[in-house]
Amino acid sequence: MNQPVNQPPVPEQILQVIINFWSSRAVYVFTKLGIPDLLNSGPKTAEELAAATKMHAPSLYRVLRALASIGFVSATADGRFAQTPVSEILVTDAPGSLRWFTMSELGQEHYPAWGNLMHSVKNGEIAFDNFFGADIWKYFEQNTEDAAVFNNSMSGVTAATNEEILALYDFSPFRTVVDVGGGHGGLITSILKANPELKGILLDAPQVIEGAHAKIEAAGLADRCETVGGDFFKSVPAGGDAYIMKWIIHDWNDERAITILKNCHNQMSQNGKVIIVDCVVPETSEPDFSKFFDLNMMVMTGGKERTEKEFVQILGAAGLKLLRVIPTKVPASIVEAEPV
Ligand code: SAH
Repeated sequence: MNQPVNQPPVPEQILQVIINFWSSRAVYVFTKLGIPDLLNSGPKTAEELAAATKMHAPSLYRVLRALASIGFVSATADGRFAQTPVSEILVTDAPGSLRWFTMSELGQEHYPAWGNLMHSVKNGEIAFDNFFGADIWKYFEQNTEDAAVFNNSMSGVTAATNEEILALYDFSPFRTVVDVGGGHGGLITSILKANPELKGILLDAPQVIEGAHAKIEAAGLADRCETVGGDFFKSVPAGGDAYIMKWIIHDWNDERAITILKNCHNQMSQNGKVIIVDCVVPETSEPDFSKFFDLNMMVMTGGKERTEKEFVQILGAAGLKLLRVIPTKVPASIVEAEPV
């Protein structure tokens, strides 16, 4: 079959791709220092921002000047830097803030792992594990500050996805939804809020669940949502008629992914559903978020983004059949399956 051919990039675009990490790292510094938060109270000079963050003013100025050239701040006529719609998204408590995602992707773990991409390509091994001598989940157990940043980053990027899932998928026929690897509970919380009859169970690693419990209580959902610290490779909680997994299956190779799916299958009723929220990689060469997200999985976890055919395969191996794939406006589709 002929694949659509994308326009080859012009030289400036090639250069832009090559140097993209320059701007990424500048955005990291800007965000890690909390400059978007500081700009909330009005435009500031580089000197004021450097004093507030204990940085070297002339160097910080150069970072801000560069970021002003791509809209992350705006330079005012009187030599100050002001918030823009982009920097607003990086403010800590902005709705759907990308602050934590920026810090996680460009900070301590993802960035060095990406620097080691060659290792994955050469050996088929996980670049992160090779660099850090432990897998990402062990690393987070031992580096609790980075883990907190990661969990917050998941909650942040999850906000927009949750809205899409709720708009496109009807949870009302279910009695109990189990969120398998649900992190701090952003998704299950919004599902329960939108469906007052529904009960929820949130499963994640014990140290993550500790942080989740307080959030469920704060949302006023403690009576409808049980939190369970556990290991989805051993088992998942019983009693659900829907098992939802957002950004879980893509973390794992086929063998591990099938184990998780089998564990869900083992606990669900014959007319229960498995709902996977992950990218579905198009078979053609069109640009799609999933294709580089897939490399992120390669270097970080040894997982992968999958095509529809690949989902059919792993679901089949777990005794499940794919019912439908619902595309969304965010980088994920809803893949619904049920027991064969
Ligand atoms: N579903 C959430 C989090 C995705 S990140 C969201 O979309 O925002 C992947 C999650 O899997 C993390 O919260 C991590 O702690 C959890 N996880 C990893 N290994 C696990 C295991 N063996 N058992 C249970 N949870 C696990």
